[in-house]
Amino acid sequence: MTVYHKLIHGNMLNNYELGDITPEQALEQGYKPLIQAEREENKEYAVSYNEDETIPQMTSLNKICLHWTAGSNSPCNTDIKAYHFLIDSNGRIYPGTHKPEDNLNCKDGNYAAHCGGGNTGCIGLSVCGMAGFSLHKKETKYPITQKQVETLCCLTAYLTIKYGIIIKENSVFTHNEFDSKKAKPEGKIDITYLPYLPNLQIIRIGGYLRNKAEWYRKKIKEGKYKLEKKGSYYEFICVC
Ligand SMILES: [Zn+2]
Repeated sequence: MTVYHKLIHGNMLNNYELGDITPEQALEQGYKPLIQAEREENKEYAVSYNEDETIPQMTSLNKICLHWTAGSNSPCNTDIKAYHFLIDSNGRIYPGTHKPEDNLNCKDGNYAAHCGGGNTGCIGLSVCGMAGFSLHKKETKYPITQKQVETLCCLTAYLTIKYGIIIKENSVFTHNEFDSKKAKPEGKIDITYLPYLPNLQIIRIGGYLRNKAEWYRKKIKEGKYKLEKKGSYYEFICVC
């Protein structure tokens, strides 16, 4: 039996939902069989980093979708329901009302609906900001900050370790990347512009974020970044 990228934790493709996708359609859409070494590597991370966690060691949360809220620079009530984690302009991380595990099964209606057509098994992270932004004008009263994006990538790295997710285009992606691969794209523009890097091309943003996440992943594994709870929010602390 072939195991696909999105199925790294043992679920077979015909049990997986991405708009009733079939194995043949998955191959057509570019999902590649996962090589054994990658699966083994992931398993190791998942086990070693969950020792002090209460979550199950193996889950089928296997994707992370990166968003901006298109609101202000801090989360509102709607944002809190739509995403698993939100990041304000100071790099503070606020958990949403839904836990990532709620998205293991989206049929019960109790999940964070952040990524239409791709919510099952998918963790939704969002940086707060970009209200009123359009690709044409590139203006907003609430630009996302570099601090927010760094925190987004550090949190992505942390979650890939925690849940055993590989940082690849098919498993860690922006909402725009996900949307643009759909048969009928909805025109999602998050994340297609970084105000502090105005010349970074749209098609390079996903790769830029994944590279950063990969860098943070190494640092976290070296014990250089720790997630700390500070009352209602969390923050990454650099242990340098
Ligand atoms: Zn989005």
